[in-house]
Amino acid sequence: MNKNNNNYSDFNLYSLIRDNILNVDPYISARIEHKKEKKSIFLDANENSFGSPLSFFNSYNRYPDPLQQELKEKISELKNISTSKIFLGNGSDEIIDLIYRIFSRPEIDNTIIFPPTYGMYEISGKIHGANVIKINLTEENYQLNFDEIKKVINNNSKIIFICSPNNPTGNDIKRNNIEKIIKKFTGIVVLDEAYIDFSEKKSFSIEIDKFPNLIVLQTLSKSWGLAGLRIGIAIASADIIHWMNKIKHPYNISMVSQKIAIQALENRDLFFYHLKNILSEREYMKTCLSQISTIKKVYPSSANFLLVKINFSSKNLYQYLVEKKVIVRERSKIILCNNCLRITIGTHEENEYLIEKIKEYSKKIKI
Ligand SMILES: *Cc1c(COP(=O)(O)O)cnc(C)c1O
Repeated sequence: MNKNNNNYSDFNLYSLIRDNILNVDPYISARIEHKKEKKSIFLDANENSFGSPLSFFNSYNRYPDPLQQELKEKISELKNISTSKIFLGNGSDEIIDLIYRIFSRPEIDNTIIFPPTYGMYEISGKIHGANVIKINLTEENYQLNFDEIKKVINNNSKIIFICSPNNPTGNDIKRNNIEKIIKKFTGIVVLDEAYIDFSEKKSFSIEIDKFPNLIVLQTLSKSWGLAGLRIGIAIASADIIHWMNKIKHPYNISMVSQKIAIQALENRDLFFYHLKNILSEREYMKTCLSQISTIKKVYPSSANFLLVKINFSSKNLYQYLVEKKVIVRERSKIILCNNCLRITIGTHEENEYLIEKIKEYSKKIKI
């Protein structure tokens, strides 16, 4: 599958970056040039020096730190990765968009994705005019299909997206297969680890130095419970991070998001407490759901949700649950997910209610 017998001494990031991106002179924000001199009088960014109508919160009259240094230091400490190898985006979705912008020439380059998987890889690719090639995961256990992948990779293959644990299937992609792709592919591999904290598997982020073509995506939206703040994390070589910083919008993470994320990251005890509860609820849900006769299969999960195959039309069950005011994700239209629902792990009470309603429905349809 290699274009030219890749070995890392040959890896040339420059050759993968689009010419127009190489030629951009980035916007230099006022706050980058003088951010250290806190006592100065700032008349450089056309902010409102009198403050906002929020009176006692008036620090929001200033633009936020464009490079989010303080927040990055917290994340660096947490993940044991240097801040120079961390990029923060307005959600992972911003980072996916930036990756396409940097590497994928519209109408020329292709991106390879492995359905069923996260929808944004394809949507973002189409927005950027990438040719998105889909190689389905294997039907038995949702793993990578190497024979098919080898067939489609060509000289214009720039990006491969792997999601592990995968959404919506919930399983981990086998580690040695991920490593094989990273090592053999001469383009950029994006490994989306949005759900890694729920998995027993190790993150690739700690080994980022071994893989110059790897970008690991993580997020504060799932295990950290901060979906509303919109903070996605990319971990990659300092070179790749440099290009992301160069083309991002200058103030991509608001001051409110930065401040609150810093506070949350300081409370690791509560994070671990919630994580432990989610994991034990996942096992509980798995056991309960497996015992319901109308449920054909509960797939193994390393994430905070379960993919469940129903013995009959999942749409009808979905509708019934909506009527009972429980919203799950109907995934029937997705390839290899026929009659499947994706159910996020809720609190114990929420899970009990859901199980009760599914049991109720199962009784009904038998009559
Ligand atoms: C939820 C999710 C994300 C997170 O996206 P954010 O924009 O950071 O909230 C990323 N990838 C996958 C596969 C997800 O399921």
